[in-house]
Amino acid sequence: MSARILVVDDVVPNLKLLEARLTAEYFDVTTATNGPEALAACGREECDIILLDVMMPGMDGFETCRRLKRDPLTAHIPVVMVTALDQPADRLKGLEAGADDFLTKPIDEMTLIARVRSLARLKLVLDELRSRAATAVSLGMPDPLAHALAQDCHGGRILLVDDRISSADQITVAMRGKATVDVERDPQEALVKGIAGDYDLFIVSLGLNDFDALRLCSQIRSLERTRQLPILCIAEMEDRPRVLRALDLGVNDFLLRPMDANELRARVRTQIRRKRYADALRENVQASIELAVVDPLTGVHNRRYFESHLSALVSEAADRGRPLALMILDIDHFKGVNDTHGHGAGDVVLKNFAERIRKVIRTSDLVCRLGGEEFVVVMPDTPMEIATKVAERVRGEIERNRFPITDDGRAIDVTVSIGLAERGREAEPDSLFRRADRALYRSKTGGRNRVSADAA
Ligand SMILES: [Mg+2]
Repeated sequence: MSARILVVDDVVPNLKLLEARLTAEYFDVTTATNGPEALAACGREECDIILLDVMMPGMDGFETCRRLKRDPLTAHIPVVMVTALDQPADRLKGLEAGADDFLTKPIDEMTLIARVRSLARLKLVLDELRSRAATAVSLGMPDPLAHALAQDCHGGRILLVDDRISSADQITVAMRGKATVDVERDPQEALVKGIAGDYDLFIVSLGLNDFDALRLCSQIRSLERTRQLPILCIAEMEDRPRVLRALDLGVNDFLLRPMDANELRARVRTQIRRKRYADALRENVQASIELAVVDPLTGVHNRRYFESHLSALVSEAADRGRPLALMILDIDHFKGVNDTHGHGAGDVVLKNFAERIRKVIRTSDLVCRLGGEEFVVVMPDTPMEIATKVAERVRGEIERNRFPITDDGRAIDVTVSIGLAERGREAEPDSLFRRADRALYRSKTGGRNRVSADAA
């Protein structure tokens, strides 16, 4: 997998070194020698991941990172801080500034590649979601990133897999007031809990006594219900080779013992924020898909959905040699409702009308609003004889009960004209629709409030 990496360092030999190592791994590398240059490059959308030196004259790495994370256009780009000072306080300052990760000089090549790969994988997923969610954002839904950042990690739920009581206690205490921690000693039980529970993060101790923790990480990654859950590993210093293996398996982050409580909190927060961001994006994508196919007023499918599904339903019926009926419904004198009682009342009638149709028909039937006061119902596995009875029931239901149009109980009479057609030998959905429409026309000209069936 390739990604565009922006390396920022004020010392040119450092730039060259990192550039050479990353290029050897087929990453696409660009460089900048100071903060403002880096901000400009990010503003031009020229990178997927930033490796950012902390100590630079003028705007230092912390400030550059803060600015990147404050700008909605660049806030989603992962930032890895690079520093010569291996001090927990410094790491913490970087994570507080919004950095996604940390590397210390001299940079260990394996750690570098593993971290960059892991971030590139994540960026790929988020970019895909972001592009699909863009329509939702442009429709005025809340920005998922801003939402996720505002939430911090409060209310987060962590499943900790650790068989050492002292270590489990240490983590639980560190997270107190930030997130709830459920401790599970048995890895298989942890997997079951992870599938069933509503967790935001797995923390896995790599040094489990009777079980290979890497196997657990790989299981978490491969199961549908848990594959999106972030994993943070805790390891001993001498366990470094297994940490790299873990990162290759898709583990998101790690911490080496002895753990620094502040760093633990900061890394947990980053993971939970990212997960919430991805969750919010997924919800947005789902919502924008629904917006595209659902009529917002009545909640039934829209014309676009009807048109894309009718032909599929018709050819499926033809393949199986099954009947299929199409019902077109048009509310009588609807213009009069709008003119006399206002469009608000008209909308109430339309909503109510759609609800009543849905009550009468089967769940396997497809209801769509074609536009205005015109609706359509596709009824698979339904011969004309049955369709006529259903249509009569719909007509009667509309006629019998008055439609309330105000909160104080004012109600009006509404009737509906219906046209029906059954799938004939032809497979074209267009001709089926035309025949049902002709039948509807006969209902209208014949006096309205009636059902007509196409004779063919
Ligand atoms: Mg420097």
